[in-house]
Amino acid sequence: MTVLADLTTSPQVREAPSPQVLGAPSPQVFETTSPRVLEAGSTEVFETRESAVRSYCRAFPVLLSSAHGTTLVAEDGTEYVDFFSGAGALNYGHNHAHIKRQVVAHLEGDGLLHALDFHTAAKREFLERFGREVLEPRGLDHRVQFCGSTGTDAVEAALKLARKHTGRSQVIAFSGAYHGVSRGSLAATADLSLRKVAGMPLGEVTHLPFPVGPRGPFPTMDLLEQYLTDDLSGVELPAAVILEVVQMEGGVYRIPDADLRRLRALCDRYGIVLIADEIQAGCGRTGGFFSFEQAGVVPDLITVSKSIGGLGLPMSILLIREGLDSWAAGDHPGTFRGNQLAFVAACGALDLWQSQAFLDQARDGAELLRTFWETHPLPGVEIRAEGHAIGIDLTHAGGRRAADDVVAWCFERGLIVESTGRDKAVLKLLPALTMENDVLRYGCELIHEALRTALSR
Ligand code: PMP
Repeated sequence: MTVLADLTTSPQVREAPSPQVLGAPSPQVFETTSPRVLEAGSTEVFETRESAVRSYCRAFPVLLSSAHGTTLVAEDGTEYVDFFSGAGALNYGHNHAHIKRQVVAHLEGDGLLHALDFHTAAKREFLERFGREVLEPRGLDHRVQFCGSTGTDAVEAALKLARKHTGRSQVIAFSGAYHGVSRGSLAATADLSLRKVAGMPLGEVTHLPFPVGPRGPFPTMDLLEQYLTDDLSGVELPAAVILEVVQMEGGVYRIPDADLRRLRALCDRYGIVLIADEIQAGCGRTGGFFSFEQAGVVPDLITVSKSIGGLGLPMSILLIREGLDSWAAGDHPGTFRGNQLAFVAACGALDLWQSQAFLDQARDGAELLRTFWETHPLPGVEIRAEGHAIGIDLTHAGGRRAADDVVAWCFERGLIVESTGRDKAVLKLLPALTMENDVLRYGCELIHEALRTALSR
């Protein structure tokens, strides 16, 4: 038996003996022996085995099995145009050929997959390129903290770091905001039904009205300035202000540039850490790479997740402005901070940002979306267009019932789009930045027809 000889001569073989040596089961054992396989399309096991917590699958009762570009394919072969993009995690579409090739090459080359926060070649490439291609051209001197793989962990890290750095505990967030559902981030999330589920008080965060919204506009920056200057305001000096520059779950509302600049100035004056949550609005979704770019402000901390992982692979980072990196080694650990495949895919996605064809498509697509909705007004319907995020607000035109009807009508005809915002009365269109113009136009026309049908009821 040659294996024994190999074990004595080759260190690699000693460290990784063949499965036979270890007595591992032969491949045949892995063949299914299950007596009953549910027929294609059956969703029975989800009803009987999966937790009641599942949600999107209730609005879209389909069993998906593959996807390419901007098309989702169900197990029974039905195709869906994707105007949802994994809630913003798929800005480059599904299985983008270029990104996928990098990932497959990494797998085939036995690249590391899991590495905690060890130094690795894949992470080095990501750090070098993200610094050179994304941060430096935008004048950002931030360091990168790799967080646990969800957006909510980057928000946890941001809030914790701001508190540690300032020695203060209070945080200001905004009505309409969504920052995640773990305890710290949930305290900053505004949705009362989600907060209730915590089952315990979520303190240390004061919510101010977002300057724009269905009940706005509000002179929020005046109010904040009052709080900060009035020694009888009752509001303690906060460690941080956290905001989504474009509130996405809140219904696609962008804070006016002047308000954001004023907020930056107030934070500077009072030593408050300004946190921009770019988890959904970033990675090109709302225009530039970051949603704050157009206002010309630099946030102190920036959370990035969702589409940073290129193919929808879990990845989450916190960008920390120079001088604010007050962590001690190991202050915010996490087993899955080193998803190497996501780093590889992230670099594949950075390649796209160097491609003129990608940039042209993204610019033209955003323009097409804006123009389409500007030129197809519907009575009582308000449109908010921010790059590849379109909010179609039905608050004053049928509300939630109409929005639900549109979602269901489109789904029946092979298009996936979701509703969000107060009482879920805002349709949120999130097509991939790579969606071709004819598909974008087709999708918009279908949604417009759905709106006309729903509003005529
Ligand atoms: N912040 C924002 C702005 C988000 O949109 C989300 C997710 N919708 C999160 C934080 C939380 O991210 P995750 O679901 O990955 O925890």
